[in-house]
Parts: sequence; structure tokens; C-alpha cells
Amino acid sequence: MRTQMTATRCGWATSPLLVEYHDREWGVDIADDRRHFEFLILEGAQAGLSWETVLRRRGAYRRAFAGFDPRRVARFDDAKARSLLADAGIIRNRLKIASAIGNARAFLAVAREHGSFDAYLRSFAPRRPRRAPRTLADIPAESPESVALSKDLRRRGFTFVGPVVMYAHMQAVGLVNDHLASCYRRASGRGSRGGAANSPRRPAAGASPRDRATAGTRTRR
Ligand SMILES: [Zn+2]
Repeated sequence: MRTQMTATRCGWATSPLLVEYHDREWGVDIADDRRHFEFLILEGAQAGLSWETVLRRRGAYRRAFAGFDPRRVARFDDAKARSLLADAGIIRNRLKIASAIGNARAFLAVAREHGSFDAYLRSFAPRRPRRAPRTLADIPAESPESVALSKDLRRRGFTFVGPVVMYAHMQAVGLVNDHLASCYRRASGRGSRGGAANSPRRPAAGASPRDRATAGTRTRR
């Protein structure tokens, strides 16, 4: 699809990179486990930073993390982790790199148990759709489902998977549809599986949902 610079879209898409991400990826229903793993790595890397900062480094992350193949990342050893700490293309944070490797191992265990990570994730999808948000302030930072998902992931050994981060993941992969009612992408995804009734939080003006997730990550982990 073509990126439409003049379309009415969610107000957090404020740069060309964010517009492209919003128009092509955000909220599009995916079922591919490697894509889920890619987002988990990028979401973990984001903590404390803007989503745009991470998106700019996506190519470097793809190279550094074996094309986001969880089977290969799960086999990364200490020497590989040290070499990643020297990779200027990615965010060089020891905890985040260790988290990506540990999460790869936990991710494979979940996929073995449930057939796929996607099938596991869908068991946390909200049952009823939520009304379309009219403003960014109507979009919650987390939901009962993301709280339950986060708790279960942590029990399985995942890290950097707080409820706010996991709500951002559910938005990104179309488990909830948080495109604004006025957004031209609202009706385009199949991501209208629903959302939980939840009291809205007031986001920072102009911040993307993931940037708001960052703030929540720091306080909730
Ligand atoms: Zn939108």
C-alpha cells in the first residue's frame, strides 16, 4: 500500500518513519512467530527510549540478531553477547541484550508447548471489542489482558515484558485495534478483535503509544 502523507491518521505518527510504521504495520494482524519475536526484541530494546529511535536501528537489529530467528538467538553464547555490546548499530545495554537471548529460549519453549507463540498470545486476546478511541487520551496504557499476559510471560522467564509493553505488543500485532475513530487505517486491519473495557489514561501529548509504554515500563517492572 502507498503511504498517504495527507491522510487523517493517529496523532502519534509525527515523522516520516512513524507514518510509514503506522500505515504499514501498526495494528496489522500478524500470525508469524518470527515477527512476534522481532517485536519482542525491539520492544525490550525500547525501554527508556523513543520508539522512533528503535525503528531507526531496526536494520542493525535484524543483522545483529540473526534475522530475528529465535532458534539462532537462543544459541547465542557469552562471546556473542559481548560482541553485541560492541555493535554501535544497536542499543548497547547489557541487560537488554541478555534479555533478548533469554527471551529467545523462553519463546521457543512457549511455541513448543502451544504449537506457536502466536497461538499462545491469542489465548490472551480480549473477548469483546472496545469502542474506537476518539483521541489519544482514550487509549489505555495497559489492559487486564496485558496484565495477565505479562504475569504469565514472567512466570515463564521472560524479561522486559511489563503490562504496558505487552499492551503495546497487542496493539502492534492487531490483537486490539487502537487506531482512532478518525484514522483512515481504523477499518483496514482485522485488528478489531476487540479490547477490554478499561479506564483511559492520559498520555503525554504527541507521544506514540509505545513511548507512553516506555514510561510505564520503568515504573511497573
Ligand atoms: Zn491510526
